[in-house]
Amino acid sequence: MYDILIIGAGPAGLTAAIYACRAEKRTLVLEAKTYGGQIINTPDIANYPVAPGISGFDFATTLYNQAKDLGAEVKFEKVTEVRDGDVKTVVTPKNTYEAKTVIVATGAENRKLGVEGEDKLIGRGVSYCATCDGNFFRKKVVAVAGGGNTAVEDALYLADLAEKVYLIHRRDAFRADAALVSKLKERENVELVLNANVTKLVYEQRLQGVEVTDKLTGETKVLDVAGLFVAVGQVPENQNFAQLIDLDESGYAIAGEDCLTKVPGIFVAGDNRVKDVRQLITAASDGAVAATAAIKYLNE
Ligand code: NAP
Repeated sequence: MYDILIIGAGPAGLTAAIYACRAEKRTLVLEAKTYGGQIINTPDIANYPVAPGISGFDFATTLYNQAKDLGAEVKFEKVTEVRDGDVKTVVTPKNTYEAKTVIVATGAENRKLGVEGEDKLIGRGVSYCATCDGNFFRKKVVAVAGGGNTAVEDALYLADLAEKVYLIHRRDAFRADAALVSKLKERENVELVLNANVTKLVYEQRLQGVEVTDKLTGETKVLDVAGLFVAVGQVPENQNFAQLIDLDESGYAIAGEDCLTKVPGIFVAGDNRVKDVRQLITAASDGAVAATAAIKYLNE
């Protein structure tokens, strides 16, 4: 019987494990893939206090070792179901675990465009985080794909750094807030490429261009860009918990800054929770908040 069972070994889950272990709670972390979550793909973390320039891999490994050294057990098994009851039951294909509390810190995945070469060009021209990687494209020509708030904010951010920014969106109406779109339209170095899909990535070792196809005319053209920032939304990894906790229409777990769900003893932390700012620091912060709430629940 575990006191605190944490699902997900990203920054939220591992931070929760640190807090849980320091409160001397028996703690298990279950992770479906590898530890670290999305941050492991970031070559250079520039916006985390006190650790400028650390790689995502080094950050994640240090965090993982910190949690393990404090006594967290970590197992690499995918959780397929959580059942509520006097104790919580957590099921994986290999085992069934019992715990007094559960923290769901499964994170979210960036939605992919699904074009050939996208995965292998991550870190070589393709990025999912303008604030993390924008600096690498100073005075270069870049493109952003998407039409939501993230895409428009990314394009605005990049317009300050890059020589030119193309914003490629599959419709001519934006999901992003009108005020943001107006700001973007005022930028002289931003060109909107609307009703267009990214149909091909042009590359050798690194990205050299993107082929876009006009949805109305079928015409294709290649934009010569050094970077493509994909901002077509995220997919929260809450599918296996939909029976247990409330999710919003996009699949994010409904919980406030206190990380409490409607189920006593079940908490959510990190990018799979409804929130405005999905960053490393807010994921870690959620981990601390959720673990503190779980500790309080156990001690009551
Ligand atoms: P989003 O609002 O879901 O927008 C995703 C965009 O990507 C949409 O324009 C969508 O096109 C497009 N898209 C989706 N799948 C695509 C595909 N396969 N190929 C091409 N385009 C695709 O995602 P988000 O911008 O990341 O925002 C997520 C949430 O965070 C939203 O609620 C947003 O308002 C919020 N947010 C808020 C702020 C802020 O308030 N400052 C900043 C960032 C994010 P369609 O429009 O055609 O569906």
